[in-house]
Amino acid sequence: MVKFPEADLRLFKNVFVCRKCKSKIKAPALKVIAKKVTCTKCGGHNFRPLRKK
Ligand SMILES: [Zn+2]
Repeated sequence: MVKFPEADLRLFKNVFVCRKCKSKIKAPALKVIAKKVTCTKCGGHNFRPLRKK
C-alpha cells in the first residue's frame, strides 16, 4: 500500500495522530513525512494519518 498518495493528502487534511499518545496534530504532510513535526504532548516523531486506525 502506498503511504502518502496525493489524493490521501487531501483526504487526511493534514491531520495526523501520534503513535505514542494518540493525540491529533495538524501539520503539513510533508513535514510529518520528513519527521520535522514533534508531538506537543509526548515529543514523539512518529505519526500516522488520521484515517488509518
Ligand atoms: Zn504524542
